[in-house]
Amino acid sequence: MPSSIFTDSQFTKLKKLGIRTELDLLLHLPSRYLDETKLKSINEIRPGELSQIQGWIIKSEVTYGSRKSLVVYIKDKTGGLRIRFLNFYPSQVKQFVNGKFIRVIGEVKTYSLFYEMVHPLYKIIEEGTPLPDSYSPIYPITAGLSQKMITKLIQNHIELAKKTKQYEDLFPTTYQEKHFPTFMEALENIHRPPKKFSKKIFDDRSSIYHQRLIYDEFLAQQLFFRGKYFEIKKHKAPHITFEKTKHELFLNQLNFDLTIQQQQAFSDLQKDFTLGYPMNRLLQGDVGSGKTVVAVMAAIQVITDGYQVAFMAPTEILAEQHYEKIKEWLSVLSINVVLLIGGMKEKLKLITYEKIKKGEAELVIGTHALFQESVEFDRLGFYIIDEQHRFGVEQRILLRKNNLKKKGYEAHQLMMSATPIPRTLSMSYFADMEISTINELPPGRRPIITKLFSDEKREKILENINRLCLQGSQVYWVCPLIEESETLQLETAKKTYEDLTAVFSEHSVGLIHGRMRSNDKKEIMKKFQENKIQILVATTVIEVGVDVPNATLMVIENSERMGLSQLHQLRGRIGRGGKGGVCILLYQKKLSEIAKQRLKIIYENIDGFKIAEEDLRLRGPGEFLGLKQSGLPLLKIGDLDRDEYLLDMAKKDADTLLNKHKNVSIHIDRWLKDYESLSRT
Ligand code: ADP
Ligand code: MG
Repeated sequence: MPSSIFTDSQFTKLKKLGIRTELDLLLHLPSRYLDETKLKSINEIRPGELSQIQGWIIKSEVTYGSRKSLVVYIKDKTGGLRIRFLNFYPSQVKQFVNGKFIRVIGEVKTYSLFYEMVHPLYKIIEEGTPLPDSYSPIYPITAGLSQKMITKLIQNHIELAKKTKQYEDLFPTTYQEKHFPTFMEALENIHRPPKKFSKKIFDDRSSIYHQRLIYDEFLAQQLFFRGKYFEIKKHKAPHITFEKTKHELFLNQLNFDLTIQQQQAFSDLQKDFTLGYPMNRLLQGDVGSGKTVVAVMAAIQVITDGYQVAFMAPTEILAEQHYEKIKEWLSVLSINVVLLIGGMKEKLKLITYEKIKKGEAELVIGTHALFQESVEFDRLGFYIIDEQHRFGVEQRILLRKNNLKKKGYEAHQLMMSATPIPRTLSMSYFADMEISTINELPPGRRPIITKLFSDEKREKILENINRLCLQGSQVYWVCPLIEESETLQLETAKKTYEDLTAVFSEHSVGLIHGRMRSNDKKEIMKKFQENKIQILVATTVIEVGVDVPNATLMVIENSERMGLSQLHQLRGRIGRGGKGGVCILLYQKKLSEIAKQRLKIIYENIDGFKIAEEDLRLRGPGEFLGLKQSGLPLLKIGDLDRDEYLLDMAKKDADTLLNKHKNVSIHIDRWLKDYESLSRT
């Protein structure tokens, strides 16, 4: 879609830089600046410093030494200097005419007899041309679009925008309090910073003008997510009353007491149920902190009040496991629990659909198959999404939208995440949700010990495994996803399985992976649960949620290839039964720098919140949230870490503006077009 603002040829080039609209162009900020406002005489130049000089061309020649190069000799009143080009055009050679005046900016590197700059920036000018009074922007560019061209284009559009007044400030008062410049002032100064300022604050984007834009970007994000937050409150949802008898019956048959934080989380949910609008809550808590039981307690309340509940898990294995466990928990309450996963026999699926439609199925546990169109609920009152971090922001927004509204009400929604969300992220990308946090593990858990072993130490590990199995414990042996090839990963897993089977004739070894049929997976997991399999070789299908308390050792192969949160999730599978646990990370030598950092973090930390923060720092919010895959844009300018105080500011303002200002959607559109269209379609 060519735009009328740009010519076709401009448009094609700009698109490569992600620029489609005039505003995109104006927000294409310099990545750094060049100081061309100062001049040195040639005798003042010091090697290693960037300096600008000017003088007369006294000679130029193409030399054929070890490499063909163009050399130009320049002199001013204080001395002489040589500039050299290794790549040059014939037309360039012609520019350097003896006696012409030239301005050059570059760095002298060598201490040869003659000062020399290689590939400096230069301009042939008239003698007496004044120096610029602003720093020169250096933009990210692309083939066919030079610095000069894009600078000019941006300057033209700034002039145009000033005339049309198209980007006037939308919310005058909020900005004035902060002594921020206007949006247009910010743009003008960033694209052409006057030399009265220090260049540094523009280079590192800390100028008041940058702050203004970053604030605007955060504000848009806040208006979008907080807008959703308030929007939900206008919808209707069933009022769920608390039923004490069932609640106590359930608690009494558990073989543990709830932790204080589990109780607190449950009372958050209970309160949400009485507000008349849909719950939109995230329950975050480290791996093994006991989120499931909290969700189930809430489900009991909803079912007792006559509604259906859906419980969605990201993998079939986890769905199965939840199904088995929850069915058992709920048997005393005679609640009808059904399972719905993609791998089920067609006939059984149809029967299940029927039960769901009639309302007979009170609690439906399943994978995303649950949210397909063929599944029609009679009266869905509450849905739970487990391991939300596996689904991503985009799906989260979409789910909310697809949520049933048939009977004049919307279902309550609870998401659970074992990847704790660092504060800055929960304040931004999760600002539409209420958040409950469980940050303690149930009592009696002994910490997991993590060990790092290079691959050469396998022998020793095998001895360990033997000893543990003889003591009655169980072991996971994980062969992670090797990105280049899933088949290769499977090969590794199969090979490991064969090797281990050969080594451990007295213990039973099992194999589980994603390509197996549902029933086979189920069979294997069941055997492992019942300790009929002692050593389970697995691909990362067991990453999420799987709960076998008797497993105390986990070996992870090629751990250097895995992400932090994945490692943490995997490790959380062991040490669940009060016996403690050991996690052995095997790695191949010759670690990359980032792999080293990851292993160090996972080795030193056990707290999921700390790990998540480090993970965010290493990968950045885009990858952390899986936004890159979804194609949703990241922040253009703002940096959640660096600019946290602006985020705080924007959040406060957003909540005030949302209720009363007509320009809210214009502002969101300026910055977040793609999010807007996602939530509208
Ligand atoms: P997660 O938060 O990772 O989903 P789970 O809900 O799977 O954790 O709980 C992990 C294990 O801890 C399960 O076996 C669960 O039954 C058990 N558990 C949950 N709450 C408690 C508690 N308060 N005391 C002891 N064990 C608990
Ligand atoms: Mg869980």
